[in-house]
Amino acid sequence: MADRSENCIFCRIIRGEIPATMVATNDHVVAFRDLDPKAPVHVLVVPREHIASLDDSPDRAVLGAVLALATEVAQMEGLADGYRVVINTGPDGGQTVDHLHAHVLGGRHMAWPPG
Ligand code: AMP
Repeated sequence: MADRSENCIFCRIIRGEIPATMVATNDHVVAFRDLDPKAPVHVLVVPREHIASLDDSPDRAVLGAVLALATEVAQMEGLADGYRVVINTGPDGGQTVDHLHAHVLGGRHMAWPPG
């Protein structure tokens, strides 16, 4: 069976095959700017391991690493007045890239409920 990460766009960014503006990296997670930002700050936090979604049974250490880097990014980006962390999951959740990722959105007031 072909490696399912072979053509995954986020795996390709992690491997350096597609350019992205990196914001932070560590051994487990990378953070880069969204290509189509929905807020003044819009950063994606992505585990290096190819995990399709929250429904793909990510282990707790991976989830913890994603959220920990998300809060670090928010601090680095100066989002002292608050921010939103979103993990879209599946078609109804609005997930369009099948590699688990958290959006860190900030720099403007966020409406609630989301659309
Ligand atoms: P989601 O809809 O939650 O799956 O989010 C996928 C996000 O990936 C969207 O906000 C896209 O704008 C973003 N995206 C897609 N391709 C790239 C890319 N090559 N570099 C950075 N962000 C991307």
